Amino acid sequence: MAAPMEIALRSYQEEVVQTALKGENSIIWLPTGGGKTRAAVYVAKKHLETTANAKVAVLVNKVHLVDQHYNKEFNVHLGKPYKIKPISGDSCDKELFGRLVKDSDLVICTAQILENALNSTEEEKHVDLTDFTLLVIDECHHTQKENVYNKIMGRYVEKKVRKEGKLPQVLGLTASPGTGGNKSLDKAVEHVLQICANLDSVIVSTKNYTPALKKVVPRPKKQYDIVEKRALDPFADHLKLMMSMIHEFMPSTVSRSLRDRGTQEYEADVVELEKKGVIEENRLIAQCALHLRKYNDALLINDTVRMVDAFNVLDEFYNSRKNKLLDGTDFFLQGLFDENRVELKQLALDARYENPKLAQLQVVLLEEFREKKSRGILFSKTRKGTHCLYDWVNSNHELLKVKITAGILTGTGTGAEHMNQNEQKKTIHEFREGFLNLLISTSVAEEGLDIPECNLVVRYGLLTNEIAQQQASGRARAENSVYSVVAEEGGREMRKELTNEYLESLTSKAIDQVQRMSPREFRIKISKLQQMSILIRLETEKKKDARKQRYSPAEVQLHCRGCFLRVCSGEDIKTIENSHHVNINPEFKRFYKTGGQVVLERTFEDWEPGRVISCSKCGQEWGLEIKFKRVAILPCLKIKNFSLNTPHGKVPCKYWKNVEFQVPEFDFIEYMSSSYPDLDFLDD
Ligand SMILES: [Zn+2]
Repeated sequence: MAAPMEIALRSYQEEVVQTALKGENSIIWLPTGGGKTRAAVYVAKKHLETTANAKVAVLVNKVHLVDQHYNKEFNVHLGKPYKIKPISGDSCDKELFGRLVKDSDLVICTAQILENALNSTEEEKHVDLTDFTLLVIDECHHTQKENVYNKIMGRYVEKKVRKEGKLPQVLGLTASPGTGGNKSLDKAVEHVLQICANLDSVIVSTKNYTPALKKVVPRPKKQYDIVEKRALDPFADHLKLMMSMIHEFMPSTVSRSLRDRGTQEYEADVVELEKKGVIEENRLIAQCALHLRKYNDALLINDTVRMVDAFNVLDEFYNSRKNKLLDGTDFFLQGLFDENRVELKQLALDARYENPKLAQLQVVLLEEFREKKSRGILFSKTRKGTHCLYDWVNSNHELLKVKITAGILTGTGTGAEHMNQNEQKKTIHEFREGFLNLLISTSVAEEGLDIPECNLVVRYGLLTNEIAQQQASGRARAENSVYSVVAEEGGREMRKELTNEYLESLTSKAIDQVQRMSPREFRIKISKLQQMSILIRLETEKKKDARKQRYSPAEVQLHCRGCFLRVCSGEDIKTIENSHHVNINPEFKRFYKTGGQVVLERTFEDWEPGRVISCSKCGQEWGLEIKFKRVAILPCLKIKNFSLNTPHGKVPCKYWKNVEFQVPEFDFIEYMSSSYPDLDFLDD
């Protein structure tokens, strides 16, 4: 067998791994493109060579990073003498996680898989933190609050404080810990300390080799491509007029409390208003609020992409509902749209008033692609936005003339506009090979995705935090690359971008301050924060348990969110794998109808998806069928599509984890036994 290759580190990488090589917990802070993962591979290699019974876990926060880290880094540079295993949530390997860990020297998996294994009571699946000698945590700035990284590290810190067992060394990697939304230095320092406390680590960055680092990771040239506000916007004016008519249809006290139409604040207001309508069983208010939210979506889209994209959103919404009109409110809302549809469409197609941001975006793209072979990423806020921009590029003759070939890159998931992992891989491959030269992406590409260096990064109509901004700019790594921000003069995006620039420099200052603390001062502060975190977690758990006991399941009734009809009792609900909530009452069938087959990217041990289900009275979507063990078809309900009637009145609820009654685990044998009364073993 060939001897393993030596890994050559750059000077600054050499510097930042020193603490880890001494066996101490540390966070490595290096910018995107600085080679954090390579530094981690180096630490893992030295650790495996020098530690008896070494066992390493590399944790990532996105599924695609498992294979990426395995193929590009860990397998290439550690290779042969060690058993390295990538474990992805889609493979059924995860079921035997405990055994896989026993048989490997290093595993790469998502944090969720490790968390599940830590919680598992089955021997083949279970692992303990003390089974490992080194934990590498990628993108470790997520180790805070409810994030799964923090659940794992919360357990770690608690064991450490209680002095339970020999805990693994921790190595965190991040391009920026951020300031946690804080704008003062003191608060930013607190945030960085909290991240350090959560990871039980010091934070390390290069001190002696900054110029070398700058050379490897050149900053792109940043340009603000600012657009003036539209002088005339008759399409938006018409939408606002229609919204006023809906306002007038509601009691006057209600509409007066709403903020400006076409803003995020207005959206927040109508979301609350819908809840109020549900609580008061006032269908007029609930439905008007729901429709106003759609109109507001259209206004926001009109500010970002084409008018016709905004029109289509409304048109599709009303098309999907027109056969389910229940009462006067529905007839009014549908009628209002139908009467205005033709005029709206005409306004949407009037090129004189088109969104000026798109004209500016065209200038930026042409400048980059006209003269030379380029590669660019265009970041947009939503999945919907990426699709609209894709259509815009493909219908724009100027852009097609300079041979821009665009592809869409969005996150994996289950909706119609989500991609699956293979589609993601294919798109990135085509971009790397040059078949595509413009990726239109949501924030998925900002973090971790292995994307070739770009000449141009455009942030288009985006509002994200300083961490995402740094990561986006880190994608523009080719020589003389350009980072463009297309935004409206004096608009929110522009303000946010400037705030982010400030926060980025604040983060550096905060880290510097933390690093200059004496070891003793740092230790005292960290240990206090750790004790606080433990107490907060214990108290939160206690409160959560108490909340679950507030009502008995029989005291809670589920009503359809669309028509308020009572459809079942809390007693009918059971959980599968502690997360999917199914109704096991056979009577429930008459309340819903089924639609198209649901396709999910990942597979599950005990069940597969069936069809979409919705309210047979009003058409409100409810959830999907679950085929359990291929024989039992169970309706699985999303709680946000219902309201709960409790002894203290109606409550809308967004997530099942917030309901105030206990939901027991589904028992397959008990469920089936009613169908087979003569099988005596079922009585045990
Ligand atoms: Zn209904």
